[in-house]
Amino acid sequence: MENYYDHRSHRGIEIPRLFYDSLTHQPFARCQVCEKQLVETGASYMIEKVFRKNVVSGRIESQYEFAICFDCALKLTQSYSEESRANLQRFFNEEVADLINSPAAERPESERDVLELLSHCSITGKPVNELDEYQIAGHFNGGYLNTDMRPFMMGAGSMDDVSDLLSNKTLDEIDDFTGKFLTGPPEFRDFFKSPKRRPILV
Ligand SMILES: [Zn+2]
Repeated sequence: MENYYDHRSHRGIEIPRLFYDSLTHQPFARCQVCEKQLVETGASYMIEKVFRKNVVSGRIESQYEFAICFDCALKLTQSYSEESRANLQRFFNEEVADLINSPAAERPESERDVLELLSHCSITGKPVNELDEYQIAGHFNGGYLNTDMRPFMMGAGSMDDVSDLLSNKTLDEIDDFTGKFLTGPPEFRDFFKSPKRRPILV
């Protein structure tokens, strides 16, 4: 009988270049919060990136991106208000869970599969080339994409829907967090101007 876990334990897909640090063109080296090494330690972590069309050049550029280890992500989400956590939980159970929990048959097996998955909004199905702003997120273990959780893409409309689920108190908490840890070059700071984008952390 085939051992189910044999299939799951293969090393998987190396970090797709789309998830590389845009400044270094290398995989993210450390958790942006606790500075734990990510690749060498085999840590579990997630990467989020937001792309937005540059109004001057017309090119889609990474506006904001970070890697955060699961320990730190958990601490942040635990700081959310109970109401926000309940809202997020409901939204993801209803809208997202089926889309990102990969049944074995639909698990991406190559970087090409990943790009295909990220070529349209995971929630509305809208193609990426029709979006001026979108976000991608993926879960990783060390140097590999964790394909048990499918990477997903969300267009700006769906990103707004998620922000609307969060209480003002939670938005304040997240802004404190982003102010403290996610500061960067001026382009990154501009990012927090209206309309604000925040880490989603699912
Ligand atoms: Zn961390």
